Amino acid sequence: MSDCIFCKIAAGEIPAAKVYEDEHTLAFFDIFPSAENHTLVIPKAHHVNVLDIPPEVFSRVMNTVKKVVEIYKNKLGLENLQFIHNAGEHGQQDVFHLHVHILPRAEGDGANIKYPKRNPEWRDRFDTLLQKLK
Ligand code: AMP
Ligand code: ZN
Repeated sequence: MSDCIFCKIAAGEIPAAKVYEDEHTLAFFDIFPSAENHTLVIPKAHHVNVLDIPPEVFSRVMNTVKKVVEIYKNKLGLENLQFIHNAGEHGQQDVFHLHVHILPRAEGDGANIKYPKRNPEWRDRFDTLLQKLK
């Protein structure tokens, strides 16, 4: 994808603060960090999101997520984190090359990333929803 910013980072055409790289994946700092060491993990090949990536490529991405988390645990003593994957326009995806955000968290960091709206009254619908999956 010639106009994809993450393809350009994967190809080394534009700079990134690289944390980890192997043949198929790359991890680098998010340029607008929400937390210290906010990291993006991508496949080097262009895939839009979890809906179109082949399972074996997604597994490689998630293996790299685990490797980066281990690096942060061993080097920085990281004990708290979230990881997030936004998929699709209404899934709040802005860059349409698959990436998993790793957000290291610490007491008092003010990041507060959690579900803002809960709907416990929707429990009534669970049986109907499960029927649709059969
Ligand atoms: P999302 O909203 O999940 O699509 O996240 C896209 C992320 O990419 C945002 O958090 C941006 O800050 C980040 N981003 C965009 N361009 C760059 C870049 N050149 N280098 C690093 N991160 C970037
Ligand atoms: Zn791309």
